Amino acid sequence: MTQVIRSSAELREKVAGWKRSGMLVGVVPTMGALHDGHLSLVREARRQSDRVIVTIFVNPMQFNNADDLKKYPRDEGHDLALLDAEGVDVLFAPEVTEVYPEGFATKVSVSGVSEPLEGAFRPGHFDGVATVVAKLFGMTQAGRAFFGEKDWQQLQVVRRLVEDLNIPVRIIGCPTIREADGLAMSSRNVRLSAAERAAAPALHRILEAAAATLHGGASARETLLDAEAEILEAGFREVDYLDLRSVEGLRPLERATEPARLLVAAWIGDVRLIDNIAV
Ligand code: AMP
Repeated sequence: MTQVIRSSAELREKVAGWKRSGMLVGVVPTMGALHDGHLSLVREARRQSDRVIVTIFVNPMQFNNADDLKKYPRDEGHDLALLDAEGVDVLFAPEVTEVYPEGFATKVSVSGVSEPLEGAFRPGHFDGVATVVAKLFGMTQAGRAFFGEKDWQQLQVVRRLVEDLNIPVRIIGCPTIREADGLAMSSRNVRLSAAERAAAPALHRILEAAAATLHGGASARETLLDAEAEILEAGFREVDYLDLRSVEGLRPLERATEPARLLVAAWIGDVRLIDNIAV
């Protein structure tokens, strides 16, 4: 049975016991509303660790939009059943006041890699991510942490964070899990109407086509202008960004002359979807 823990003191005791027996602890941080993307991280964590903690915390500090926070899907009962079926040892699901008690005054801010793309469109978002991830590493004391490539920029921010602060955890990136039609799995997908859900896979299809063109040596400016127009024609309302970047530092690239990543954020109705693929 997966044990639900809400207090960091209780978690610390649990983990200390495991560590005394020489066990390697893995953690999968999430915001819940779990889907197969999350479960793929859990399975990788099970493969690479002796004990697995999944955290569910809808972190108010990383939401720059109050409405997005309010509408974020939550179903802990269902999540717990899924984690139990995967053999997860502990679900750590703290209240907001456990993570941010009165008097909390620290913010972790990673510069550079957090600034473009999501950082430009969601001010404060990565400060919230870096702060809560640093806290979760402190609270779980895990030796390995599993993050999805779905959030490519977040993965780079977390790598920078643990390197810069000498946090003794190994970050494992895991590939994006998609629906059969190519749509990247996301907790926010449940908010799509039937029509929006039918249109949404165009995003990945257009990314794939653009990546192939870029791989052939085409100019990013031209290729991505065309691709953006296609995304809008497919039923998206607005494209926040569609950019070719270097894989780790996320430097802008005009051509795919080095290992690159194509990253996109676009609005369909009032749902904002992000995706990225290798070029
Ligand atoms: P979230 O609950 O959205 O904060 O995501 C928790 C973790 O799951 C993050 O590391 C995400 O990158 C990862 N994740 C979310 N969706 C997917 C997906 N479709 N495939 C793989 N990993 C994912």
